Amino acid sequence: MTIRSIVILTGAGISAESGVPTFRGPDGLWEGHRVEDVATPQAFRRDPVLVQRFYDARRAALRNVMPNAAHLALARLDAEWPGELLLVTQNVDDLHERAGSRRLLHMHGELNSALCAACGAATPWTGDLGDHPPCPRCAAPRLRPDIVWFGEMPYHMDRIGDAIAACDLFVSIGTSGAVYPAAGFVEWARDAGASTLELNLDPSAGTPMFDEARHGPATQLVPAWVEMMLRARSY
Ligand code: NAD
Repeated sequence: MTIRSIVILTGAGISAESGVPTFRGPDGLWEGHRVEDVATPQAFRRDPVLVQRFYDARRAALRNVMPNAAHLALARLDAEWPGELLLVTQNVDDLHERAGSRRLLHMHGELNSALCAACGAATPWTGDLGDHPPCPRCAAPRLRPDIVWFGEMPYHMDRIGDAIAACDLFVSIGTSGAVYPAAGFVEWARDAGASTLELNLDPSAGTPMFDEARHGPATQLVPAWVEMMLRARSY
């Protein structure tokens, strides 16, 4: 089948080899915290100091990591692929954009953005939020991480839905298939008649849904897949 339109979904696994820990480590915790304690609106209401400190640390840690071969390969595909392409990431790090990807949507928000709980404005932000800086737009000291927490609506869902409905190939990279709605994208793609490919370290919860799954580290699998796509226009 000739492939023209590609949608790629990435998760925490693509950044693991850059030194950014994945969501659920072997201990079931995210950087030592239960997800419910740092990644829900209820957690933020209950203990804003803990939650701000957690994301301030994640934001600061971005300065010490670099895009890896998988991020760079996807940026090359973005630059050289002549057809439609959309990279949807669940990641809140900035490694895809630093690698050079342009056709990119962050469906779960970004560490380097602050959201004002008073006026709703989103502002590029690389410093701390825990010391209550004023919103650059309305001056209220109510900035929070611009992160989509559990129970909140992911960003860009209309554009993502349209792209998946029109794609020929859907590729999922480094995601556990445990967080919805992203975990359901493979079914949307199948319903649209697209081929589906998983690239992940291990078999994931979603593996049986894919036409094909390749297992191994993203820094090996992704550059090899991109090379194949650019050479043969088929996966
Ligand atoms: P997850 O932690 O649930 O799953 C990560 C997946 O990556 C696992 O299936 C694992 O087998 C795989 N993996 C680990 N190392 C890999 C490697 N070297 N190569 C290929 N695959 C590898 O992550 P998720 O599915 O993205 O779950 C999501 C949530 O975690 C998202 O909402 C995201 O916002 C948040 N999160 C983001 C980051 C980040 O921005 N880098 C980091 C941690 C958590």
